[in-house]
Amino acid sequence: MTDILNKKAKFIFITGGVVSSLGKGLASASLASILQCRGFKVRLRKLDPYLNVDPGTMSPYQHGEVYVTDDGTEADLDLGHYERFSGVPAKRTDSITTGKIYQRVIDKERHGDYLGATIQVVPHVTNEIKDFILSDISDEDFVLCEIGGTVGDIEGQPYLEAIRQIAYDLGRERAMFIHVTLLPYIPTAGELKTKPTQHSVKKLQEYGIQPDMLLCRSCCEIPQNEKRKIALFCNIREENVITALDASSIYQVPLAYSHEGMDAQVCKHFGIDNSQPADLSKWQHIVDVLAHPEGTVHIAVVGKYVQLLEAYKSLGEALTHGGIANKYKVKVKWVDSEDVEKDGAAAHLHDVSAVLVPGGFGQRGTNGKIMAIEYAREHNVPFLAICFGMQMAVIETMRHLAGVQNAGTTEFSPDCEPVVGLMTEWDKDGAKQIRHKDGDLGGTMRLGAYECCLSPDSKVAQIYGSQKISERHRHRYEVNLAYEKVLNENGMVVVGKSPDGKLPEIIERPDHPWFIGVQFHPELKSKPFAPHPLFVSFVAAAIKQSRLL
Ligand code: GLN
Repeated sequence: MTDILNKKAKFIFITGGVVSSLGKGLASASLASILQCRGFKVRLRKLDPYLNVDPGTMSPYQHGEVYVTDDGTEADLDLGHYERFSGVPAKRTDSITTGKIYQRVIDKERHGDYLGATIQVVPHVTNEIKDFILSDISDEDFVLCEIGGTVGDIEGQPYLEAIRQIAYDLGRERAMFIHVTLLPYIPTAGELKTKPTQHSVKKLQEYGIQPDMLLCRSCCEIPQNEKRKIALFCNIREENVITALDASSIYQVPLAYSHEGMDAQVCKHFGIDNSQPADLSKWQHIVDVLAHPEGTVHIAVVGKYVQLLEAYKSLGEALTHGGIANKYKVKVKWVDSEDVEKDGAAAHLHDVSAVLVPGGFGQRGTNGKIMAIEYAREHNVPFLAICFGMQMAVIETMRHLAGVQNAGTTEFSPDCEPVVGLMTEWDKDGAKQIRHKDGDLGGTMRLGAYECCLSPDSKVAQIYGSQKISERHRHRYEVNLAYEKVLNENGMVVVGKSPDGKLPEIIERPDHPWFIGVQFHPELKSKPFAPHPLFVSFVAAAIKQSRLL
């Protein structure tokens, strides 16, 4: 506590009310970015009240994509929004869950650290949450902490108590509460309704939290008299009732919020001079390119979680960024790999200019992915494979070109020709990591940033403009280098390896216009202002291909 008193960081807590899925993550990321546009240094944190230690073991259908940080944390996908909008790399200390908090509390209790005390939610759990929020802060001007879930959730209560206490400890001049709500439009009445927002704020007040600002999601403009009503009933300044209209692109949101005066009002809350507007030119540029593309290119993503696009959040964004760099709109055709199995690849892929097979787990739908890869290879369609996709691309070459029908991955069965196998040992920053077949599943994959060395004469070295790169990983299985020679003989070259040469990280087919597979997740590092080179090049290849269609 005394440590934080010596630092300048101001804390902004973002809560949500009325319903879930209001886009609190995007709201937090957007506010952080417009504060940066005023010259401030920001940090973003996510507090997830669920009991899992991290989302790593959750189904993508439950929680969407699992985002991975450089330092190897499996985290909520909102951290992806944070990084994309702010450019600040998220860290282990930026993502907390109730599972992690309880793990720490119980570890301390077992260790005897509480000196015989009875362990309680208040103060022991709440203190742990406070310590987390206040830890690992350097010279940031603002730390934005988003509380997952909706006000009123049982799991969220200790978090609300913890942030209430922080505001009490630091003083309101160093803390601000922003509450994101929904104003539903009732067509029969022709009105936006404010009652759910009033109730949600009342709930927050029950926990001792008086919001300083409301961010009201709405499908249409909020009439001034309604804003006045909300302000009066919720005890908030009228100019701090901010409209958050539905936007056609997430990249319009920072401009829209700033236009509504959000950053100016945040500065005012903290007594910071706000007479100079934020310099939003970089966002304006992105929005202009998105609004006036030189053309549209169609790219298929063949995966098995396509019913829930949240599962491919960063991927969709990275493709958009590749489009921005090429001044093109990328229209993604999300193809269910099981449909490819049923209908054949051509039925789904004949009208696209490039094919991408993303990461994944488990056997369902893999034959469809392999059929899509075969189609892209044979028809010279630009092809990018990510993680599981790369493993499938290797299996495709082994089965269809090297004639090894039984080629497979031990992820599905021990009885295949193990072209892809479980990684049991690898090097992490000079220390050996060891895994066993029956070990825990949580947090035990090869996670986070690893260096990779590229062959000087490869296409990827040209694309990256470097022979040494660092990319983020999340996998348990790895292509078996014992098959490198056979792959080579069949046109597939391993062009990227771990620095010790033991793990293959990138493959390409020199006989194909654009066929690259990577064991890592390049989509996690792409940003609108710094599109990932692989996506820039892939989209450029797709545009070239579209001229042939
Ligand atoms: N299931 C594969 C593995 O664990 C691929 C993982 C992924 O695509 N992220 O290696």
